[in-house]
Amino acid sequence: MLHSKKRKKKTSNKLLQATSRRPRLRSSVRVQEAMEQTVEEKRPYTHFKVCPECKSSIEYWSTSGMSECFPHFYCERCSNVIWRSSDRDIVCSSELSQGLAESLAKELPQCKCGGSFKSGANPKCPSCKHEFKHSNSIVQRLTDPCVILLQGAIFTSEN
Ligand SMILES: [Zn+2]
Ligand SMILES: [Zn+2]
Repeated sequence: MLHSKKRKKKTSNKLLQATSRRPRLRSSVRVQEAMEQTVEEKRPYTHFKVCPECKSSIEYWSTSGMSECFPHFYCERCSNVIWRSSDRDIVCSSELSQGLAESLAKELPQCKCGGSFKSGANPKCPSCKHEFKHSNSIVQRLTDPCVILLQGAIFTSEN
């Protein structure tokens, strides 16, 4: 019994090896450079802040002020955030206005949670949903490169 089982396993392994193809992952990734990042992946470069409402400690990661992650948009419902280099190119060659921010946000794909990315939206406390309001106007935020990625949220970037 045991012997025949062993033999069976060996042959199936051989078959797998013969038929498996190694896809060229690297080149296919380079074509479509959409990336999804989470706070967990950013450790140890993460920080903590205390929610002013519920006092819970929230882990977060932020892009540097030297990054070109503008304009980025948060989801109105959750704290997911999206940035597309094509939007940056538009912002760099356009007059900045609230209308521009709104029209760029309208073209974004829907958030995974079912909500929409909006020009005035902000990240929210994962525990109590307290909104971390931005001090700048919607127009000023068009050129703000500092993406705040909160624990539990996804940062989608398209290069
Ligand atoms: Zn809170
Ligand atoms: Zn969302």
